[in-house]
Amino acid sequence: MLKSIIIDHIRNHGPMDMYTYMQLCLTHPDYGYYATRQSTDILGVQGDFTTAPEISPLFGEMIALWVVMQWQRLGSPSQLKLVELGPGNGTLMYQVLTTLNAINSFNASCGVHLVEINPQFKLMQQTKLSALANEVVHHSSIDWLNRLQEPVVVIANEFFDALPAHQYDVSGNSWSEIKVAVYEGNLAHVNIPLSKVQPHLEYQPDTIKIMDVLCNHLGAHGGAAVIIDYGYWQGQGHSMQAVQNHHYSDILENPGKSDLSVHVNFKQMAERASACQLSYEYKTQRQFLLELGIQLRLAQVCASNPQKAAALTQGVHRIIDPAQMGQLLKVLSLYKP
Ligand code: SAH
Repeated sequence: MLKSIIIDHIRNHGPMDMYTYMQLCLTHPDYGYYATRQSTDILGVQGDFTTAPEISPLFGEMIALWVVMQWQRLGSPSQLKLVELGPGNGTLMYQVLTTLNAINSFNASCGVHLVEINPQFKLMQQTKLSALANEVVHHSSIDWLNRLQEPVVVIANEFFDALPAHQYDVSGNSWSEIKVAVYEGNLAHVNIPLSKVQPHLEYQPDTIKIMDVLCNHLGAHGGAAVIIDYGYWQGQGHSMQAVQNHHYSDILENPGKSDLSVHVNFKQMAERASACQLSYEYKTQRQFLLELGIQLRLAQVCASNPQKAAALTQGVHRIIDPAQMGQLLKVLSLYKP
């Protein structure tokens, strides 16, 4: 069990930082949530949480329109490499490819490159997408981009919030790192004093590494990326949370059994883009989807499918409503000008 592995580790090495704890909970090869859970236990109505493409097919249609704009910016090449980070059930890429295939003015053949760790998700993605693209290739990390020398268009929906984070605390001028210790046989938080001031209360080192690979690639070879996630520009406190069965649960209870996530720091991501001379735009999911014309498209599909109109309208409402997913989810898009 993961809990006893963590307890043993703490007994041998002292309190464990939240980065290591979250990393083990999500990606431990034998017990990690994303590495081992059944895909249906993770995503969708029966799973722990759901995402915009699972809620509305129009989400992927809008991302497809954004892809077409980036393809045109690249000079409408005859081949396009599409990359997705953490594609889950493959629903978003399915919606994107189906839409691209239906747009007459889009006439590139697409190669699809997916970064994914969950074996079941990989299988589902391959099955769902292989007929829609000229190749579907899996990679275990984004580092393969370092070997590629052509433009890419990258999509990441609710991927970065699953990357592990350090957590810090401040009281007056005294900083500490939040760690996990063993107390009476159970896991408990402890604060370990630090001599150095920290710039943030939460910090995801892997996000910076991934952004550096991505932005260096876009800077050198061209292309664009759209990153959609729960997150903020600045001023966030502690956001790490555990979700099981659509309900919040205790972060330290049942390690490996619930989804752990944090809100992402978009300002830090945008700084990596600026360092590589990329342009970026940052907006709420609501604004992004409204600007791409989601309401116009909703009216069209409702008119041609009156029997599905209520469900389609409800889905779109959920992803753009400020009180639901419209405001909390943000979109950072990057491109080489
Ligand atoms: N983008 C999808 C799924 C989001 S869930 C959607 O919008 O529905 C997060 C996805 O990222 C899952 O596919 C999960 O298996 C994958 N993932 C999580 N951590 C990862 C990591 N470290 N490397 C690669 N993929 C990861």
